Amino acid sequence: MALVRSERLQALPPYLFAEIDRKRRAARAAGHDVIDFGVGDPDQPTHDFIIERMVQAVRKPENHVYPLGGGAAEFRRQVAAFFRRRYGVEVDPQREVLALIGSKEGIGHLPLAVVNPGQTVLVPSPGYPVYRVGTVFAGGEPYLMELTEGNGWLPDFERIPADVARNAVLMFLNYPNNPTGATATREFYERAVAFAMRRSVWIAQDAAYNELYLDTERPPSILEVPGARDVAIEFHSASKTFNMTGWRVGFAVGNAELIAALASVKANLDSGVFGAVQEAACAAYAGSERPELERMRELYRQRAEVLCDGLRRLGFGATPPRATFYVWAAVPAGYDSMTVCNRLLDEAHVVGVPGIGFGPTGEGYVRFALNVPVERIRVALERIGAMKW
Ligand code: PLP
Repeated sequence: MALVRSERLQALPPYLFAEIDRKRRAARAAGHDVIDFGVGDPDQPTHDFIIERMVQAVRKPENHVYPLGGGAAEFRRQVAAFFRRRYGVEVDPQREVLALIGSKEGIGHLPLAVVNPGQTVLVPSPGYPVYRVGTVFAGGEPYLMELTEGNGWLPDFERIPADVARNAVLMFLNYPNNPTGATATREFYERAVAFAMRRSVWIAQDAAYNELYLDTERPPSILEVPGARDVAIEFHSASKTFNMTGWRVGFAVGNAELIAALASVKANLDSGVFGAVQEAACAAYAGSERPELERMRELYRQRAEVLCDGLRRLGFGATPPRATFYVWAAVPAGYDSMTVCNRLLDEAHVVGVPGIGFGPTGEGYVRFALNVPVERIRVALERIGAMKW
């Protein structure tokens, strides 16, 4: 029987990375030594102090049953303690914290909780694709807020047309930003909260990279801003912070009604985060100031410097990110992002992600994830240098 995919699946934007993926696999199959700056997945293992807790937790029978929907009491308490310590913000562990099976899961499901078909969701472009996908799955209409170098990769709320703003119910923000590495200040969040209150729009701020600051300044939480709790939730993830991408754990924190609505969607679709993983995440967040985390940031700082220096010498525009582990490099004059990525792969066996894959305003840039050791970055730069631009 011929399968007709649902309209909602057909409505998804084309998967622009598919061609790069195919070529990457083909290059590997042909025996080429591929250097992969494509995926944002740490190359270092989860820290030992987290693994030790997991080993103990996995033996406990009480962790072998369905976990409690919103997260174990200890997990929520640890998140609240982390928020107090790191951001000086008090949150109610029961009403304002929700455990997630990785933050992607919460981000993707959130529109189902608040968006009706035909309503608008404000989405950054370039941006993490899940904001758009979650919107489309809920029948919503994404409106792309353009981020440009000129505006510091921050949306200009004044430029959102009044009729769009009137129809909007939700706005995604993402700082520190994937793919650009930009960060936001408390003043920016104040403007965002004022806009959200004026227009009755919920804010979902994605803080997956908040602990990967390479700058001296630590990124704030939107919840530090007065009134944010009335209009916003923030997504956090253990994935990049603690090298735990495979474990699938994160949390949402903020407005209690929005948390309850998201919890209600999830209660109908999943059965929570494995109890032992929640325990391990408790150890992780309790250790958020440990030196292991600073060592990871130092590693990314070194890699960013080597890669950016090298790329600049080769005609790319690249400055080390203030946070995240991504370098957002402007392509040499006269090229588009897809052509550059295809050539990097064909001629240097180096994988980067074309900026166009993050939205139309991503054109002209390539994203390099810093999950490659310095020695390999140097090899990649030599190979790129041997190409004719
Ligand atoms: N948000 C952003 C901006 C990301 O780049 C990612 C992963 O790449 C996620 C959220 C999802 O992370 P996870 O589901 O592992 O928490």
